[in-house]
Amino acid sequence: MPEAMLELNDVHTYYDHIHALKGVSMTVNEGEIVALIGGNGAGKTTTLRTVSGMMKPRQGAVTMNGVSIAGIPAHHILKMGMSHVPEGRRIFKDLTVRENLDVGAYSVTDRSLIEHRIQEGFTFFPRLKERENQLGGTMSGGEQQMLAIARALMVAPKLLLLDEPSMGLSPLFVEAIFDIIVKLNKERGTTVLLVEQNANMALSIAHRAYVLQTGEIKLSGNAADIAQDESVRKAYLGED
Ligand code: ATP
Repeated sequence: MPEAMLELNDVHTYYDHIHALKGVSMTVNEGEIVALIGGNGAGKTTTLRTVSGMMKPRQGAVTMNGVSIAGIPAHHILKMGMSHVPEGRRIFKDLTVRENLDVGAYSVTDRSLIEHRIQEGFTFFPRLKERENQLGGTMSGGEQQMLAIARALMVAPKLLLLDEPSMGLSPLFVEAIFDIIVKLNKERGTTVLLVEQNANMALSIAHRAYVLQTGEIKLSGNAADIAQDESVRKAYLGED
């Protein structure tokens, strides 16, 4: 049996009276890339927010390596080895690339370790090295996405949550970002929970996938099987 790194069991999350997650159960095993796909408003972002401690579920269990994390503050969860790259990137536009990476390492106190991780980040993203002293806000969307991921890596996460990393990017950048996700997973063993509207791309790199619809998991299985599923192809892969 693979070891579950993240487990959600019957999770219900609300925005006031809006019942956004209606009993979500899912598992992410160590070493996997798991895709969470679904249409607009399905609850994908809410799932990541609930996992990373930005939102507290009203009901249900969330565990990381067997430890309950539901409702625990986000900075504690970060220290347990989970990093969340939110939708829309949210890098600091008025800080340089290097300063953004420094901020990402705020919970790391060892300066030489921080420097080591910055250099590691530059190895993964040579483009960021070239732009080390450039202000984040002056970079292209794809570069900002790279920076957002590199910043999340500054804590050397065991589990990386990615919310729509391909959003608004040109096809070349989309490919570059997905290549990096695969590389992180293969070379570092980073476990990834990937939320995407771009279901085709997400299913092409994921091991397993869950399909979310109006707050409920409608389908789950091997990513290759989900990609073949007729209802999924019609709804999310742009086929009639
Ligand atoms: P998208 O791809 O459009 O971001 P999503 O699958 O990530 O969609 P969520 O953003 O998680 O979906 O939204 C799930 C439900 O919660 C939707 O009905 C949405 O309208 C509602 N919702 C999301 N954010 C808020 C908020 N801040 N306040 C109130 N309702 C919200």
